[in-house]
Amino acid sequence: MIPNHDDEYWMNIAFREAEVALRRKEVPIGAVIVKNGNVIGKGSNQIEMLQDPTAHAEIIAITAAGLYACPVSPSFQLQPHR
Ligand SMILES: [Zn+2]
Repeated sequence: MIPNHDDEYWMNIAFREAEVALRRKEVPIGAVIVKNGNVIGKGSNQIEMLQDPTAHAEIIAITAAGLYACPVSPSFQLQPHR
């Protein structure tokens, strides 16, 4: 059964992510990705922490959602390129 949450519920989750960023002295931005009534990705701005200008909250959330959709096997290892 899909939980019946409204936009305000999901925005509160994104807001809490923004507060996480604020506590880290980042620009306070949060993002959440919801599918079928479940959070599959969320993130907070991490530009300063990672020194990465692409580490926007929505990118972090998309990456998290991608890991949810396509989990990386723990046995996955990079192989040397020959
Ligand atoms: Zn952004």
